[in-house]
Amino acid sequence: MTEETLAQTGSPSVGPSHTDRILDSHLHCISCQYDLHSLSASGVCPECACEISATIDAITLDDTWLRTIRTGVRWMVASLYVAVLLGAFRSFGPIELVVVSLMHFGGALCLITPNPKLPRRHSNTPGPLLFLGIALGGYFLASISPISSSSLKWVLLPIATLAHLGGLALLWRRIETLMDLGISPNSAVIARNLYWLTISIAVFSVLTAASRQLTLVWSPVRYAALASAGLLMVGLLVWYFASLITLHLMSISIRRLIGDAPATAASP
Ligand SMILES: [Zn+2]
Repeated sequence: MTEETLAQTGSPSVGPSHTDRILDSHLHCISCQYDLHSLSASGVCPECACEISATIDAITLDDTWLRTIRTGVRWMVASLYVAVLLGAFRSFGPIELVVVSLMHFGGALCLITPNPKLPRRHSNTPGPLLFLGIALGGYFLASISPISSSSLKWVLLPIATLAHLGGLALLWRRIETLMDLGISPNSAVIARNLYWLTISIAVFSVLTAASRQLTLVWSPVRYAALASAGLLMVGLLVWYFASLITLHLMSISIRRLIGDAPATAASP
């Protein structure tokens, strides 16, 4: 990665393009592991006086790692297109959910890969994998369970769906950190909003599902149920397109950072 490519992406780490932004994520100093949250990217670590830009550089300058992250982003983008294609041909059932959650699991596997240049403390917890694994297992059991035990599906599917949304929320948290560390600092705020939007969708899913169990004779409850169902639909639409755009922006940023030249990845 050259200084020129860094300047193009607006990374705060190098030379004249240096922006005096404040670190939103809990980045730890590469020298002493001090938490650099809310400090200026152009400053020095208050604990050991190591330049904060050195820590940001150490994170962004690993091309092999960036390629793994890009693979994860591609899995996530592909899952969004596949979800629409599957939904276009038939109603979204457990089998379709198995396919989509499997792609999310593959994407998460790449996206939580720790940067080999950083101390262990920077390694991400496998939270997204745990949640997405529970979702995948739940969908799979629901897809193979016989029709006679349909009550099993009514227990399995809601649990799997909530685990799925939880995994996606944690994944957006991870993407926010990745962006903030130098991949695309200006877009990190979108990832943070997508984290909260995913949680909101989970809440509205529960409210909508609960309202369906009620006998809707009392009109205020009926209106509340309709409102939560409407908010769920709007939330899902916004989530879908915002996710697609954000992941594409991230992919473009990574392509600029690694210059798309395979020869440079091998050189130390
Ligand atoms: Zn330090």
